[in-house]
This record gives sequence, structure tokens and C-alpha cells, in this order.
Amino acid sequence: MRLRNIAGSREKIAESSFVVHKPWEQRGKWRELFKNDNPIVIEIGMGKGKFLHELAAANPQNNYIGIEKYSSVLLRAIQKMEEDELPNLRFIRMDAEGLTGVFDKGEVEKIYLNFSDPWPKERHAGRRLPSRQFLERYDQVLAPDGRLEFKTDNRELFDFALDELSEAGWRAEAVTYDLHHDDAMLPGNIMTEYEERFSAMGNPICKYIICR
Ligand code: SAM
Repeated sequence: MRLRNIAGSREKIAESSFVVHKPWEQRGKWRELFKNDNPIVIEIGMGKGKFLHELAAANPQNNYIGIEKYSSVLLRAIQKMEEDELPNLRFIRMDAEGLTGVFDKGEVEKIYLNFSDPWPKERHAGRRLPSRQFLERYDQVLAPDGRLEFKTDNRELFDFALDELSEAGWRAEAVTYDLHHDDAMLPGNIMTEYEERFSAMGNPICKYIICR
């Protein structure tokens, strides 16, 4: 998701107390920022933050961090927080390639990837968020018993993501190719913005939950 450049978005983000501006300084100390020992849950590529905002509101027992690389998109998530402030939700504007510089080993309890960009060209496969290159980064920051959940309507990307697992030392705990008609995996599902858009077009939604 890349919105038209919104004038002043970088400045507004720089002023926002909902954004962690020097996230590398929090490495190993995220619980201090939230002033509690609650588990840290992250969404990578959160877009405008609808999913994470709803998830954080429903689960005050967890701390949530949304990671998004584009200012214009992150701005929307900040605006949502201004309307409905949550103490357990914060944002980082960064490229997830730098994840291990921001979270210490095992510091994250759960990772969400939702409707990640497909990067269809083969030479860009390493930029796909469920690629083996990113799974290695997730392996470093995720707790040993942590889980990663991924949703997409892009069947090619999903098949690629499944193929990457064993190579990177992960295994699928649950898989569906049609989440919205899956009685076992649907309960508690929170729709993302893209999920609303693509399921309204009739696209089935794929999802996996993985662990090591
Ligand atoms: N997750 C949202 C949803 O499901 O509605 C947004 C999906 S959108 C297709 C993908 C988002 O991931 C975009 O906002 C994009 O900027 C962000 N993104 C892609 N690669 C990223 C990366 N390496 N680091 C941080 N954000 C990234």
C-alpha cells in the first residue's frame, strides 16, 4: 500500500507520541516503554492499522507494535489513535529488514503478516515478507514457542510462503485456503483493510499459523 504523498506527513509523524522514533534504543527494553511485562506482539506491514487497532483494543493484556515503512500510510494509523487512544499500541516507521536491530533475541511473542506485498519478480523474492530471508529475521526476534500468522488472498504468494517453511526450519501448525469458510480457523478473525476489500470481491483468503 502506497498512498499519494501527503504533505507534512513526515513532520506529523515526527511529532507523534504514538510513534517510537528511535526504536533501536528500545532493543531488549520494550517492556519498559509499555511499563509492564505483557507480551510483545508485532504486525509487519500494518498499512493504515485497522487490524492492529482492533486487536489491541480487544486484548489489553498484550502490547502491540505496528511496523510500516511508508509515512503516508502510517499517518492514517496515527489519526485512528488520536480518535481512540490505546495505551498498549505503538508504531514504528521502518523497513522490516532492520527488525533484528530493533528487537532482541526472543523479545517478540507473536508476529502478524497481513496481505504482504507480492513482489512478483523472482529476483525480488527476498523482499517478500514470508520469504526465507525474512523467516530468518523472525527466527531471531521471536520467542522459542512464538507463532507467526500470515493471511493473503494471493495464492501464488501463499504457495511460495508454504514452500519456504521447511527450508528455513519452520513448520505449519494450521493452514487454510478459505479462511472465511473454515470453522476451525475463522473464530476470532479480525479483518484487515485488504481482507475486507478482497473478500468482498469474492477472493478466498489463505492463512497459515507457523512455528519452529
Ligand atoms: N496489512 C494491511 C492490510 O492487510 O490491510 C496492509 C497491506 S499492504 C498490501 C502491505 C503494507 O506493507 C504496505 O503498507 C507496505 O508499505 C508495507 N510493507 C511492505 N514491505 C514492508 C517492509 N519491508 N517493512 C515495513 N512495511 C512494509
